[in-house]
Amino acid sequence: MSENERLELAELLFPNIKKTREDYEKMYPKRDLPEGAMVTRYGPSPTGSVHLGNLYSAFCDMVYARQSNGVFFLRIEDTDSKREVEGGKENITSVLKGFEITPNEGYSFGGNYGSYVQSERTEIYQTFVKELIVSGDAYPCFMSEEEIAAIREEQEINKIQIGIYGMYAQDRDLSLDEIKKHLDNGDPYVIRLKSKGDPKKEVEIDDLIKGKLKFAERNLDDVLLKKDGTPTYHLAHVVDDHFMRTTHVIRDDSWVSSIPLHIELFNLLGFELPRYAHIAPITIKDSETGAIRKLSKRKDPWAGAKYYEESGIPLDALHLYLATITNTNFEEWYLNNSDKEITDFKFSFDKMAVGGTSFDQAKLMNICKTYFSRKSGEEVYNETLEFAKRFDTEYAKLLEDNKDMMIKFFSIEKDGDRPRKDIAKYSDVKEEFSYAIDSMFEKENYSKLESDKTYDLDLIKEYIENVNLDVTNEEWFNSIKEFSVAHGYAGSPKDYKKDPDNYKGHVGDVCEALRVVITGRTKSPDLFSIMKILGKDKINKRISLYEKHINKN
Ligand code: GLU
Repeated sequence: MSENERLELAELLFPNIKKTREDYEKMYPKRDLPEGAMVTRYGPSPTGSVHLGNLYSAFCDMVYARQSNGVFFLRIEDTDSKREVEGGKENITSVLKGFEITPNEGYSFGGNYGSYVQSERTEIYQTFVKELIVSGDAYPCFMSEEEIAAIREEQEINKIQIGIYGMYAQDRDLSLDEIKKHLDNGDPYVIRLKSKGDPKKEVEIDDLIKGKLKFAERNLDDVLLKKDGTPTYHLAHVVDDHFMRTTHVIRDDSWVSSIPLHIELFNLLGFELPRYAHIAPITIKDSETGAIRKLSKRKDPWAGAKYYEESGIPLDALHLYLATITNTNFEEWYLNNSDKEITDFKFSFDKMAVGGTSFDQAKLMNICKTYFSRKSGEEVYNETLEFAKRFDTEYAKLLEDNKDMMIKFFSIEKDGDRPRKDIAKYSDVKEEFSYAIDSMFEKENYSKLESDKTYDLDLIKEYIENVNLDVTNEEWFNSIKEFSVAHGYAGSPKDYKKDPDNYKGHVGDVCEALRVVITGRTKSPDLFSIMKILGKDKINKRISLYEKHINKN
């Protein structure tokens, strides 16, 4: 086709496209950012719920942009309308906001490089496809799906490269007249790249995570525009990341095999290639097969972002966990700098996992417990209340009605070098402190006890009758020791061990009896603190409850 014919064809195919490259270059100027600033983007498709892998990749976008004084934006990649779910876009935004992985600009965040929704950008994609028609680098292809399927089958049988290329690219060299005939007939068509790649040659990129990657050039005539005129991922990626001035494309490594096509498109369109950082998936050891596999929304409850919200994993703890999977040296740094913020750490691509990042639930839980252990009783109260208001209004009401008392409970064993590490999630609080509120304790009763061992109720009654709760911890402990000794128990486990036949038990057994009667469990935070907060009246009520409980059995 001559140049004039290609111009005519371009007009025929895109009569409404009037803007040019210059218009867009003006509309989306280079960003005025300091040297080294990274422009990153999170480009989710609104095709389902957000999972941990999405949060991880958006987290990377955020930290790299933030630490380089750059820009992190959100682009909705909704070119596959068939797979789009209702409310998908809104859900993505609300998850990002909820998890405080907040873009500086993008869909629903504003900015000058929009629209940030690909389905609203058809005109810009078509402008560049029109250019490629004029330059002879793209062509309309009228092949039917059946024809393409037959070609694929033949290629599979012959074990050769699958795709439309060489002799299979039937419409690559149609004349203008032939094309016109098809158009007059109303035959549907896609626009394909007229690839000039030579598989005998190699292309190379220096991936920021994976290092140097080499590929054979591609000679496939990939689809750029679908039958409905919307772009494929590849074209949209290249056009958008150029005009949104992305400097670093951080994305899932499932896109690695598309790199040669993307390089070809960047080159053909005369756009500068961004830096690529392909992140490895989050993996897990399958509990049944023992094999390492990708985290799965279906099999692993903690794969979905919802889990973190609904079970009440504190945001800061999740951010810390994401930081530990982002950089292999983060954890050690944080151990030595626990008073610092994540933002004080310098993330680097060369400290990112190349193969896969394994999900470590125990580590996540430990981070969460450390988080709670560092919070004051009042902070635990306020944050748990916020959580309960969203997910458990009944408990929220109880918390509000018992505010002062609950703050006291949450403050037990917070002082000292090793604060208690009992809570991992906001949803644990209700369960962990169920003995604190009378109405909850009455319901739960002694159901948490694993053994049906019973304790000497008379001893407990006598103890409570005489106990003075208005003393220091030390005084209290001395007094319970004295009480124990006076009632035939050893004053310490050591004394007991020396001569077990001489004692009914030791002071620890007396404490256990008290603890069980008062809290309904054999383990609890500091018993004296609990007794002080509850006071004698409530304790006496529990003694009656326990009496009923043992008489029932
Ligand atoms: N829309 C693509 C996806 O959800 C994003 C790929 C990219 O970040 O470039 O997989």
